[in-house]
Amino acid sequence: VTTRVIDGKKISADIRAEIAADIQRLKSATGIIPGLAVVLVGEDPASRIYVRNKNRAARELGINSEQFSLPATASEAEIIGLVDKLNRNGEVHGILVQSPLPDHIDESRINMAILPEKDVDGTHPLNLGRILTGGEGLRPCTPLGIQELLKRSGVRIEGSHVVVVGRSNLVGKPIAAMLAQKAADADATVTLCHSRTRDLASHTRSADILIAAIGKPALIGADMVKEGAVVIDVGINRVPDPASPKGYRVVGDVSYDEVAPKCAAITPVPGGVGPMTVTMLFYNTVRAARMAAGR
Ligand code: NAD
Repeated sequence: VTTRVIDGKKISADIRAEIAADIQRLKSATGIIPGLAVVLVGEDPASRIYVRNKNRAARELGINSEQFSLPATASEAEIIGLVDKLNRNGEVHGILVQSPLPDHIDESRINMAILPEKDVDGTHPLNLGRILTGGEGLRPCTPLGIQELLKRSGVRIEGSHVVVVGRSNLVGKPIAAMLAQKAADADATVTLCHSRTRDLASHTRSADILIAAIGKPALIGADMVKEGAVVIDVGINRVPDPASPKGYRVVGDVSYDEVAPKCAAITPVPGGVGPMTVTMLFYNTVRAARMAAGR
């Protein structure tokens, strides 16, 4: 088999171009400019960089993106107060509260305070529930990005056996539920594996599409993958690398060099799922703005 590398950067750039055009159309038809509010609590350096990058990228697409910062000492009530204000602001269509939040904050309470129709992260319990009921709703960004990668790479999902490894609320459980739905770009037979799964390899080896969302470098080896499978590697792991100026490099959950030759298609890390996540945040923001405009 010749392995196809699924280029998340390229697919992400294509989608961003479509989003930018969509924003222009919405603006000329209705005067509405999609608005995104990104809330940062505390001074975590990595979060600050993420938030700044999201803001900049959103603006490049024509989204009206604004950052709201609260000190690390902010109480739950103060954060919810800000969220409430943003909920009531008609120019804000999407609200993202950057995680992680300081230890004294119950993240799920903050999540619940965001109006489901402004929950562009797709992690509000109502939106997660809608994945199970098959209802319209905002989908979580990384699972949506995975589905989009499969779809745009021409991978047949319908009737396929999808094996998901990892059962987080953020990735594993929602992507499993989304691909099991009776819907377009879904209709798969899904197996959900996790840390307590007995004989993991016996499951992964039967996957037509294998999705690894574990957070363990190179956990998925060549002997765990069927010849001709499609492999989506969600993992982002830092491993020490003295040869790199930073002292580390980023690898996925899949042992890429040994697994890739067996695959029909595979996502690299970096440059696979990673670039899709933020792009789908913007996609959701435009969708939220369109829904608010009744379109
Ligand atoms: P998590 O830590 O919440 O969950 C990990 C899951 O892996 C758990 O459900 C656990 O049961 C399972 N697991 C752990 N060890 C296992 C083992 N030995 N065998 C089988 N299953 C095992 O993780 P998460 O938030 O879903 O993230 C998973 C990975 O994906 C992380 O590396 C994270 O950084 C990355 N991630 C990437 C993106 C992206 O945009 N590409 C987005 C979110 C998460």
